[in-house]
Amino acid sequence: MAGQARPSFDFFLVLDFEATCDDHREIFPMEIIEFPVILLNSRTLQTEDIFHFYVQPTVNPILTDFCTKLTGIAQEQVSRQPKLPEVMKSFDDWLEKHDLLSSSHNFCFVTCGDWDLKTALPNQCRHLRIAVPPYFRKWVNIKKAFRRIYKLPKLPRSMPYMLDRLGMALEGRHHSGIDDAKNITKIMVELLKLDPGIKETFFY
Ligand code: AMP
Ligand code: MG
Ligand code: MG
Repeated sequence: MAGQARPSFDFFLVLDFEATCDDHREIFPMEIIEFPVILLNSRTLQTEDIFHFYVQPTVNPILTDFCTKLTGIAQEQVSRQPKLPEVMKSFDDWLEKHDLLSSSHNFCFVTCGDWDLKTALPNQCRHLRIAVPPYFRKWVNIKKAFRRIYKLPKLPRSMPYMLDRLGMALEGRHHSGIDDAKNITKIMVELLKLDPGIKETFFY
């Protein structure tokens, strides 16, 4: 807005949830089963830490074969894990540990698409009757940033498409949350090199 200082972020938190799902069948609520977040320093472009938990689903505690094939997450990786409220508490503690909840450092999430923070987390929190912490309400949709920087007529269709366009290989397994988050981080680092001004822009 004219005359108003725009925010600039010291850190980006690259997040990519995986959730319960099935082929040709809608699951509601889709429950988060993997919760990875990468702490990227916007100045040094280095990863400073990684928060990573598998999460036990409770509405549909048994993963479908489709879900395991898609995400690579096996039943035993989620069965004895903490449930979402506990993981959210650990995440809050992790933010606190990195001094991200005080006013001295500001941050913004980065996701590939809007599903993670616009749909998945709010829907599951509504179902659990727990509040969504306010810091989850703003994020950079990396597809929108990519479209703006490359002046594309429409949004890039996928993470592999963006990697390909940047001449970078997809590392690890697509639809593994932690591998997706690492690949999205690589894209974000390239976009920050092309346009450091992205630091000062966020997209709802
Ligand atoms: P992604 O970050 O693209 O790996 O997707 C996040 C979540 O969306 C997955 O854990 C699934 O719950 C769901 N999802 C992604 N792709 C598909 C698909 N082809 N069919 C059904 N669900 C999907
Ligand atoms: Mg994703
Ligand atoms: Mg993913």
